[in-house]
Amino acid sequence: MTRQKPGMYSIAIHGGAGAVPRAALPPEREARYRAGLEAALDGGYAVLERGGSSLEAVTTAVRSLEDDPLFNAGHGAALTRDGAAELDAAVMDGQQMRAGAVASVRHVKNPIELARRVMEKSRHVLLVGAGAEEFALEERFVLVPNQYFRTAERQEQLECEQRGKRVSDLVPSSAQGTVGAVARDASGNLAAATSTGGMTNKRPGRVGDSPIIGAGTYAKNGVCAVSATGHGEYFIRAVAAHHVCAAVEYRGLTLEQAVREMLHEILPALGGDGGLIAVDNDGGLVLDFSTDGMFRGARDSSGRREIAIY
Ligand code: ASP
Repeated sequence: MTRQKPGMYSIAIHGGAGAVPRAALPPEREARYRAGLEAALDGGYAVLERGGSSLEAVTTAVRSLEDDPLFNAGHGAALTRDGAAELDAAVMDGQQMRAGAVASVRHVKNPIELARRVMEKSRHVLLVGAGAEEFALEERFVLVPNQYFRTAERQEQLECEQRGKRVSDLVPSSAQGTVGAVARDASGNLAAATSTGGMTNKRPGRVGDSPIIGAGTYAKNGVCAVSATGHGEYFIRAVAAHHVCAAVEYRGLTLEQAVREMLHEILPALGGDGGLIAVDNDGGLVLDFSTDGMFRGARDSSGRREIAIY
């Protein structure tokens, strides 16, 4: 494994990729999205700035987006075809390649916190459904009624999907609003975190790429950390996040080349689209997507700070 280089610290976040028609995003709404992204980006960056770990930074950023109803994670999650929220989340610590994830939870206010607790306090990597929530109870997490996650807007989107008769499992909706973060701290440790409500109108029990280590989330010190958004089934089949890291580690691609290959060659060949954010061993950030847009932000200790959608 490459030795860690101290110094530069950086963080990138995403709030989902997808079709973002400009007409659907009037200035007032765009401003709200930008404010949500800024709060998450600056919250995560503040952790790095005061010498905190990349793990803490990505958890902080993702928790902030989970609490923001505009994004498809935590409060404001996309709904299953039965109108319920089922949440997936994962975190990975590149330092020791530890990982924790939860899937299909219905009552955990901040799934990313539970994913981290799975990593830090259980002997497991992935807990799902009732078992994950039992663990949350034992760990004294605050559980909320499923209703907490449902917003009028997500309900409307679900009804829209269902009116469009896109109820077949073979024709899922365009994904949008999943959240994630990647970071490098001043000690050179890398981390990644992703959280989502999944895809609107999904079948109950469906699990996407976000909580699957190597598909939607991956981190390995000395190489890179990656968080994905997009149509999860394709990211799982391509083992996208791990593939990107492997391309950097074993084929010597730059992170930018590896991300580009995944988004613009490998996934499209399968029929998939979406976006990736990633950070390399030196703290260099890559944010790329094959959709119309991706809600995203990047900030580093050399003074870069940006928020973008298109
Ligand atoms: N990747 C997520 C999933 O398939 C959805 C998204 O990124 O919007 O669950």
